[in-house]
Amino acid sequence: MEVRIDPSAGFCWGVVRAIDFAEKQLSESDKLYSLGEIIHNMAEVNRLGELGLESIKVEDFSKLKPGSKVLIRAHGEPPSTYKEALKYGIEIIDATCPVVAKVQERIRKFADNKFQVVIYGKKDHAEVIGLSGVTKDQAIVVLSVEEALESVNFSKPTVLFSQTTMDKETFKAIANTLKEKIEQLYIGSIEDEAVEFHAKNTICGQVSGREKRLRDFARSNDVIIFAAGKKSSNGKVLFDIAKEENANTFFIEEVSDIKDHWLKDAHNVGVTGATSTPHWLMKKIKNYIEEHFSSNDSLKL
Ligand code: SF4
Repeated sequence: MEVRIDPSAGFCWGVVRAIDFAEKQLSESDKLYSLGEIIHNMAEVNRLGELGLESIKVEDFSKLKPGSKVLIRAHGEPPSTYKEALKYGIEIIDATCPVVAKVQERIRKFADNKFQVVIYGKKDHAEVIGLSGVTKDQAIVVLSVEEALESVNFSKPTVLFSQTTMDKETFKAIANTLKEKIEQLYIGSIEDEAVEFHAKNTICGQVSGREKRLRDFARSNDVIIFAAGKKSSNGKVLFDIAKEENANTFFIEEVSDIKDHWLKDAHNVGVTGATSTPHWLMKKIKNYIEEHFSSNDSLKL
């Protein structure tokens, strides 16, 4: 049996950077707060928790001692969070992913220029709350073409952005629909000037190339062990993609979730996961399978 770790799986660099920030702080002091879980992966949250990282909400700022350090994770935060931190004398360790920070900046410029901002993303997702926050929560957040058609005012200058982890095809469909609708209205109107419309594809390259690589990896193994946190939306999407390519794809959170019968006839096992799955966990899974199966059926790995 050969066990391989998917080379394209694991943390994106924005998350690696946030964890580096946390580890550096925790090497200097034994307490650091994080606004929300630093990553949607309980194994990693627990590991950092043992070093002194504790997840809190903005509402908890008032209970912290002035001077306490609070880490902003890769998803970023709305401007109101920074204001609250200032109010309570909290020191912010800002690990907002530079890609997300750049998107916030671009949205801010359009909002300042009185554009109607439309964001393709999930309303309750931390990144979208941050992106919408820079528009003073005036952005229209949509998940589909239908939602965009229902909520956008086509007579206003409009710009469309995307949450960084969304699907490219739906973004294109929303962009094309809005563009067509605005053009139709312009052609039918007696006004001279067309309403301005821009579509800014802000889907992160770390995410958009992953699907094809995952499909190839899933096809090239007999069994796929997919490790991710149950709360990870990226994990759910990627698991379904792997399962489409290989019916013998199994979702686990921890090594102890692995069932022997999944692997008994496999010659090649692929270990993969979401962008929030730590590399050390995939290594642990690989080691477990290698040790367990070499002793069970004396297959040398
Ligand atoms: S997926 Fe991209 S934008 Fe999001 S945290 Fe990772 S590197 Fe940054």
